Amino acid sequence: MTEKNQTIFGKIIRGEVDADVVYEDDDTLAFRDANPVAPTHILVIPKQHVVNLFDAEDDHQALLGKLMLTARDIAEEEGLEEDGFRLVVNNGEGVGQSVFHLHIHILGGRSFSWPPG
Ligand code: AMP
Repeated sequence: MTEKNQTIFGKIIRGEVDADVVYEDDDTLAFRDANPVAPTHILVIPKQHVVNLFDAEDDHQALLGKLMLTARDIAEEEGLEEDGFRLVVNNGEGVGQSVFHLHIHILGGRSFSWPPG
């Protein structure tokens, strides 16, 4: 038996913790970040537990592509096509990953500086 995903996102996937879900299909789930850092701040996650990109295997290729295209569709749905949006994936505690279940941050609705902090 595979180990239970004890991260907060695992609990959201199983319906044990509420989330403001904006999109769901068999493979992916997207919900609004509880501590938004931009007017639009949505997280797109795989339902399968992948810790981060270091944990991804070759057979996750289609899933990773799907997450990106899902993020694009949600950004369009949120009206971000004209001004654009930023995607962020933190991989590892040292760069700010705090939930160890792969997630793409969709950020939009304000301007962003480069390089990021
Ligand atoms: P990261 O720091 O890249 O791992 O991002 C984790 C994100 O998850 C943070 O932006 C948190 O605000 C967000 N987060 C943590 N718990 C929840 C929750 N229960 N519902 C929605 N977002 C959450």
